Amino acid sequence: MFALTAGAEHQRHVCPQCGRTYKWRSSLKSHLQNECGKEPKCICPYCTYRCKVRSNLLKHLRNYHKSAISPGAPTGTAPTAPPSPSPLITPPPYHNYPR
Ligand SMILES: [Zn+2]
Ligand SMILES: [Zn+2]
Repeated sequence: MFALTAGAEHQRHVCPQCGRTYKWRSSLKSHLQNECGKEPKCICPYCTYRCKVRSNLLKHLRNYHKSAISPGAPTGTAPTAPPSPSPLITPPPYHNYPR
């Protein structure tokens, strides 16, 4: 049935320029077109991370700067309920009941 899958593992596509190996020919092709020999033009505005593919930058932003990019969410943990001082109920003073 699946005789073709056996032995296909070591048949990888090697980039002739940098030696990176890819499982799929299309992956190597897109690497040669978008990555290999190209200067990284996607620069993270929050740190020194740079990459060549925009989707990688978006992935980086989601992983490392989640709080910075998510709208409405402030940095740090917002307190759900402020610690209100619970009023201590003072027991009524005992009276000397006249018996
Ligand atoms: Zn390459
Ligand atoms: Zn970053």
